[in-house]
Amino acid sequence: MPLHIETPLIESPFLSHAGHCAAWLKLEALQPPGSFKIRGVGAACEEYLRRGARRFVSSSGGNAGLAVAYAGRRLSVPVTVVVPETASARARELLQLEAAQVIVHGASWDEANLLALSIVGQSDAFIHPFDDPLLWSGHATLVDEVARAALRPDAVVLSVGGGGLLCGVIEGLRRNALGHVPVIAVETTGSASFNHALRAGHPLELETISSVATSLGAKRVCDRAFQWSTEHAIDSVVVSDRSALDACERFLADHRLLVEPACGATLALAYEGSAALAGFARVLFVVCGGATASIDQIRAWSAKAAQPV
Ligand SMILES: *Cc1c(COP(=O)(O)O)cnc(C)c1O
Repeated sequence: MPLHIETPLIESPFLSHAGHCAAWLKLEALQPPGSFKIRGVGAACEEYLRRGARRFVSSSGGNAGLAVAYAGRRLSVPVTVVVPETASARARELLQLEAAQVIVHGASWDEANLLALSIVGQSDAFIHPFDDPLLWSGHATLVDEVARAALRPDAVVLSVGGGGLLCGVIEGLRRNALGHVPVIAVETTGSASFNHALRAGHPLELETISSVATSLGAKRVCDRAFQWSTEHAIDSVVVSDRSALDACERFLADHRLLVEPACGATLALAYEGSAALAGFARVLFVVCGGATASIDQIRAWSAKAAQPV
């Protein structure tokens, strides 16, 4: 039994209407730890346990860390998560609920990550949030489920942070004879590391991250994600924080599901009737989810984004 669940695949009248297409939603928000991350993280943790790991170490105060904590509890393997001082109280609370040891260290993720790497012992496994082939093949199971449901989309829309989800979905499309299906990769202004790399023609780092879509805040996408852009049809689209936040509100009203702005970015393409969807009759939206933003937080961000500058 894998650690993730098979999620519902539903057609959304709301997104279909707004996006002028048949919009199908893969509801990864319903995974027990709140996002698709458990697919890859769960598969990686099971493999590292098989190879003898006695502890899992993560440096993510976000959904990757939550997935590692969940996997560790399910597999009875202790988990240590090093998070920076900026990690939200909510994230720490969720990690502790999964019985993970939480170490708060450093002003930024880089510092927390350095400490995490330094404590990884011989019998520990470090679980990367997006750059590990084991993660990608785990994420690919979401496409296996879509293919088993006999849905053949004309395009797939997903959000890109470090590119792990992108790599996994493309792997899944290819292993299900859907390798011709283009992917629309969505980021927010201020977190658009994939778009930045595509424009430059090679992987490179963003100087700063400034977006409310904190789960998309990788300064540099993994090399494999960049490489896929030369082997698979990928359209890169950047939306504003405002659009991502509005999409979260509308999705909550329409589908009664609260997702992070990282996921709102993907939904915004449909809600705004984006030109990127033109010509696609059946579109699969990966509702990646996210458990780290409360409705109060989303509304506080919205109020701030609405202020005149
Ligand atoms: C991690 C995450 C992403 C981005 O995934 P990557 O594999 O880093 O590209 C998008 N949405 C949510 C909710 C996430 O947790």
